[in-house]
Amino acid sequence: MSQFDCQETKRHVHEYLNNELTELEITEITAHLAGCDSCEGDYDIENALNGAISRSCGEVPPQELAERILAQIRELQKEIKH
Ligand SMILES: [Zn+2]
Repeated sequence: MSQFDCQETKRHVHEYLNNELTELEITEITAHLAGCDSCEGDYDIENALNGAISRSCGEVPPQELAERILAQIRELQKEIKH
């Protein structure tokens, strides 16, 4: 029986992507993401956000970076809804 409901999973998505969790927590979240479209969507957004930050870091002013990331998230959300 998984300890991770949607609330817990969404709360830990960031740490999950940054490898800041224990092996057990990673296993639980991976299992939850596999069976939950809602949390998988959150994971995709966080993942895109991480990628956008690491790609853009140091090259653009924060304001512009934030706008780019927001635009990417909106694109992702459109995809998730279909
Ligand atoms: Zn969920």
